[in-house]
Amino acid sequence: MLDIQKIRADFPILSQKVNGKPLVYFDNGATSQKPQVVIDAIARYYQEINANIHRGVHTLSQLATDAYEASRHTIQHHINAKNAYEVIFTSGTTHGINAVANGFAALLKAGDEVLVSALEHHSNIVPWQMLCERTGAVLKVIPMNDKGELIQAEYDKLLSPKTKIVTVNHISNALGTINPVKEMIAKAHQVGAAVLIDGAQATPHLKPDVQDLDCDFYVFSGHKICGPTGIGILYGKETWLRKLPPYQGGGEMIATVTFEKTTYADLPHKFEAGTPNIAGGIVLGTAVDYLNEVGFDNIAKYEHELLEYATQKLLEIEGLQIFGTAEAKTSVISFNINGIHPYDIGTIIDKLGIAVRTGHHCAQPIMDYFNIPGTIRASFAFYNTKEEIDVMVEAIKKAKMMLS
Ligand SMILES: *Cc1c(COP(=O)(O)O)cnc(C)c1O
Repeated sequence: MLDIQKIRADFPILSQKVNGKPLVYFDNGATSQKPQVVIDAIARYYQEINANIHRGVHTLSQLATDAYEASRHTIQHHINAKNAYEVIFTSGTTHGINAVANGFAALLKAGDEVLVSALEHHSNIVPWQMLCERTGAVLKVIPMNDKGELIQAEYDKLLSPKTKIVTVNHISNALGTINPVKEMIAKAHQVGAAVLIDGAQATPHLKPDVQDLDCDFYVFSGHKICGPTGIGILYGKETWLRKLPPYQGGGEMIATVTFEKTTYADLPHKFEAGTPNIAGGIVLGTAVDYLNEVGFDNIAKYEHELLEYATQKLLEIEGLQIFGTAEAKTSVISFNINGIHPYDIGTIIDKLGIAVRTGHHCAQPIMDYFNIPGTIRASFAFYNTKEEIDVMVEAIKKAKMMLS
């Protein structure tokens, strides 16, 4: 069992007041809060070992390099990658997806097909559209049903030898659906397609095992897993990372440079041009250690309790409709109230100290599917409580009365 009050004490921001009310932070799907160990580790890096990495022979440069590479190993073990050099530091999920989509430009020809799912975040749609425009490949969409689940029979029909890459999120940010990615990966491999899994919304809730999933690429962001912004991970299978051309050219990613020809550095440096977010890279390891100490089994169990409790309480409000009712679902609830714009509710409950997301959640195609402009999204983390859910439900009732 988790000691929630002890955990909450690790997050200084949670004891703040917002608009004169105790903060209720339910926008974890957009970004997570940071525990004191993470905040301290950022300061410690700049106070004690700040230097550029992989370059100098001097002591600080060595210390910074060692800490950065130790963090890479922490991430490797966390996601069960076979090799540390399959773990590439990026600036976030968006960067990781763009790096892979760009690399595939060298491998695709007109008429090839790229499969995305109807549940994707814009950052897992737009880079593939750009790739298709460049190469003449065709973008196809795996449809979903009214519960917000991908229709597997339709996916089966879309897969063919023309399919070169399938890209799907592990968990949907807008609806909370947990996709059956392991089965989807196996099916894609049967037709010879590569698979990228967008793990941005899954990594806060579970520990991915990239070898068990057998995915070719897995991407996620540090800021959604209690780490800093501006850092993320692109995992790629060695064979794919060797096959893909680098995304950016610059310092650190080269072996030799002359004006006639440059040869690239070995993995992972081939994909890490320029001075990276060194502090972010080091501290991402701190964040992952922190989450593992809390324990992902504990997190999943507790968050599921929050999800069930909030679902039940919200449905007691007349005229409230939940979007995304998949069997397999994480602690995200998207909802609307009859005839009231989500933005109006969000604005009123913000005055009461409650942070939720309103809008299309960077997933406009999902909103179009339901024919709505957006939703209110409450997304819970392991540091949230049932009492906070009660506060939100009361606030929504109040807002509803004011608006109707
Ligand atoms: C947040 C999110 C992204 C984008 O992550 P960035 O950190 O903004 O790059 C992509 N996909 C999903 C599912 C997300 O939740």
